[in-house]
Amino acid sequence: MTILMFDIDGTLSRSQGAGTLAMSRAFVELYGIEDALEGMSFAGRSDSWIVPTALANHGRSCTAAELARFQDAYIGHLSDALVEREAELCPGVMALLDALLDHEVVMGLGTGNFRRAAEAKLAPLGIWDRFIDGGFGDDHANRTSLLMAGLARLRLHASDDAEVVVIGDTRNDVEAGHDIGAKVVAVKTGYAKAGDLDEADAILDDFGDLPASISALFD
Ligand SMILES: [Mg+2]
Repeated sequence: MTILMFDIDGTLSRSQGAGTLAMSRAFVELYGIEDALEGMSFAGRSDSWIVPTALANHGRSCTAAELARFQDAYIGHLSDALVEREAELCPGVMALLDALLDHEVVMGLGTGNFRRAAEAKLAPLGIWDRFIDGGFGDDHANRTSLLMAGLARLRLHASDDAEVVVIGDTRNDVEAGHDIGAKVVAVKTGYAKAGDLDEADAILDDFGDLPASISALFD
């Protein structure tokens, strides 16, 4: 049995900056701040890192209540932004997820998105219900910690000897996956620059080659 933990942005789907757009609109709505996220790098970052960091950049503290208020505003803008930016699955993802129905796997997510943002991104693409649980930006700001939280949930659905595979598109994904003792499969459909993924156990251009994708996950 294998526990799979998929990243979302740049791995399962691409949304051409819809998340950033929705967050920017939330900053305007709540604080009247334009271009609040200008110059920030989000690759492999969690929503619960991005929001307090952006608030701090504008001289604001981020209490739990403020983070919850921001999340509500962000989620309120996200669905429209995903439609505007024509969010889509990465190549080969649907065929891969279909093929995995025939494997002994626990299908999980390991993503910096808030859980509600993950659902907002994956449900319209028809794949939210493929995943039983996961680790999310709500769990921790730090990616290793949120993967640990997700893995604890997924282990409830797995045999004790289950292998763990983390699938992602950034250097942060590779490092955090190794931190939790997982095998890491990296895919080049997202935000990695040259060399970022070199430490991954397997690297795919995309999931377009189904046999190669399956063997990267299980061999
Ligand atoms: Mg990603």
